Amino acid sequence: MPRNRPGALRAAQRARHRPRRWDTPSPDRIHGLSARTGIAVHRFEALSSDYYVFPGVTDRALRRYRAFLTPPGRRPRYPFLEDCSCRGCSLLDVRHARDVLATVLRHLPRRPRAELSRLVAALDAVYLARTLPDPFVAVRRQWRSHVWWYRRLEGCRYAATGTV
Ligand SMILES: [Zn+2]
Repeated sequence: MPRNRPGALRAAQRARHRPRRWDTPSPDRIHGLSARTGIAVHRFEALSSDYYVFPGVTDRALRRYRAFLTPPGRRPRYPFLEDCSCRGCSLLDVRHARDVLATVLRHLPRRPRAELSRLVAALDAVYLARTLPDPFVAVRRQWRSHVWWYRRLEGCRYAATGTV
């Protein structure tokens, strides 16, 4: 898209000045959270201007986090990079899903935050138990290696399907 298309520019300006609304119908309850916390989450999602935050993203991030940790057995799990960086596909990278949860947690009021953070902490414990520390993290200076959920040994997305 041409960068200075006047119509688009005006539309963007209008969008900036219009108060953002969140009175759309509430989505389904988020599994494991009270209705009250669900509303707080929904409100943040609807009002956020972060590209990676959109209505329903918290639910999707939680589902992704759970699904990643669900396969039975004791074999380690390896987070993997998703090729496409759009906000839908990015959630396939469980570390991105965890980033989103961190963003939501940062912006929630105290009580909903406490409730969601208990849920996330329980998943974090499983994540730590089922992934391996990356011994080369210091050498590689991997992207976001200051964030603990990135300091785990990474796998290949195609190996992660279980066929390799
Ligand atoms: Zn995509």
